[in-house]
Amino acid sequence: MTQIRIGQAGIPLSCKGRTNKDGIAYTHNQLDLNAIEIQFVRGLYIMADEEAAFIKNFAEENDMEIHVHAPYYINLAGEADEVEMSFEKIMRAATMADNIGAETVIIHPGFYGENSEKKTMKLIIKNVKKITGMMKKEKIRVKLAIETMGKQKVFGTLDEVIEVCKSVKDVVPVIDLAHIHARGNGCLKERKSFEEMFDKLVPLKLKKYIIHVTGVLYEDGNEFYHLPIKKGDMPIAPVIEIILDRKYTATLISESPLLEHDAVYIKLQVEKAIMKRTGKEEAHYKDLSEIA
Ligand SMILES: [Zn+2]
Repeated sequence: MTQIRIGQAGIPLSCKGRTNKDGIAYTHNQLDLNAIEIQFVRGLYIMADEEAAFIKNFAEENDMEIHVHAPYYINLAGEADEVEMSFEKIMRAATMADNIGAETVIIHPGFYGENSEKKTMKLIIKNVKKITGMMKKEKIRVKLAIETMGKQKVFGTLDEVIEVCKSVKDVVPVIDLAHIHARGNGCLKERKSFEEMFDKLVPLKLKKYIIHVTGVLYEDGNEFYHLPIKKGDMPIAPVIEIILDRKYTATLISESPLLEHDAVYIKLQVEKAIMKRTGKEEAHYKDLSEIA
């Protein structure tokens, strides 16, 4: 059944406690959101067993979906030692992700460097196969997720990410809308362009669309930095409409500098879209029964 999940990347700004444990509880209890992307982005993240167990139990009991973001600097198309280091970072994040019951561990796959796009693709596919093999061997159930990237010199156009997902079993895309938009120098404005984007993903037969949402400042096909959704020039209404029209199951993660405030904004937009369909004056994003 179609389902929409909404959350933010990291501990909510308005949450007093600054641990991930505080963050997930606050996201559910105070914000009424049902997803969170936990950030293991800075260096070697250590989480105590007690905190990991709390997060896992809390998520199970309260129907929260968890994703994990691995450290930013990973290069699966680099020199041997760089790839080795990237494997270590991914394995550490994946193990942690598994401990807390996350669905995916999200990575930025790498850089072209001196290599051609084709050569880079070959290297990435080879090393993604390796790392998923290592994860399987360690009985890690978390899926590896590859993000679409927002700069020209970084591997990760939508087409490239789709190609990797087609080539390696159990690897899924993270559709970072702002990155696609920035890289295409503002390509996501009309509903039609969002439709074309989703159409490209159809062959992957995804059970769930994991989507990063934020406003973004860009120039010449390169992302500069994230903006609040309303300050950016990429609309989110078409995304919500398409998800509802196509009855997709989707998880929308706010990566805006306003984090949970924009996650709540997304939630209100989803509810507005549901109300438009039902003609009622109330809606809840978790309840799609009337429009399914
Ligand atoms: Zn990312």
